[in-house]
Amino acid sequence: MSQHYIPERAMFIFAHPDDIEFGVAGTAVKWARGGCDITYVVITDGNVGSHDREMTREQLAVIRRTEQSAAAEVAGVHRCIYLGYDDGMLEPSLALRKQLVKLIRLHKPNVVVCGDPTAVLFGGRINHPDHRAAATAAIDAVFPASEMHLLYSEFEEEGITPHKVNYVYISTYTAPDFYVDISATINTKLAALREHKSQLGDWDPEERIRQRGEQVGKNVGLKYAEGFRRVTLQAVVVEEEPELETTVATSE
Ligand SMILES: [Zn+2]
Repeated sequence: MSQHYIPERAMFIFAHPDDIEFGVAGTAVKWARGGCDITYVVITDGNVGSHDREMTREQLAVIRRTEQSAAAEVAGVHRCIYLGYDDGMLEPSLALRKQLVKLIRLHKPNVVVCGDPTAVLFGGRINHPDHRAAATAAIDAVFPASEMHLLYSEFEEEGITPHKVNYVYISTYTAPDFYVDISATINTKLAALREHKSQLGDWDPEERIRQRGEQVGKNVGLKYAEGFRRVTLQAVVVEEEPELETTVATSE
């Protein structure tokens, strides 16, 4: 099924260093291995994520960017863009939307992966407000802003033209309608997550990550999966028929 679709280009837009690794890095690893050109956009520096009284925001921002870049490398992702917003203060502002539109138009992803803007609660837990703000900013940038040429037309002077995204993959483990099989990539997902040493401390995330992967996967008979709600803006025609794609390529 279409869970095997590997986009040519994808952009992952999330609030904090480590959000991608906790949530969707199994998908990123899978796509990177399949040749997808992936951009991570990390909106805040995660610069309040410490209980160490000696730590400053500036020091923490440097540590967290370093950890995030290392995690991306483990996943096979070589482009990490940091927007440098303050952790804990994020709003889905028009200024942020404009920045994201510019990045989408520049890198032209087929798929944007983001969090769930409607998730105030996740099961019995409160979703971080930055996660909601980042997700809202991401989907608002995708549609319709990114594709409207009269909006932010000043980018055209820099050669940055409008772009229509094919799909948005909204990460969720509570109510997915679309699944990516991460059975072959969950170990690398864990290795990437372990790069966030400042956040994990002595805690080993393996059990939680495996449990969640199993919980999502069992809905569709997969050992481990990541779950999404998938929004189609413009379907990629060849995705259901990879064999046909090969036939077409040889006959040309
Ligand atoms: Zn987070």
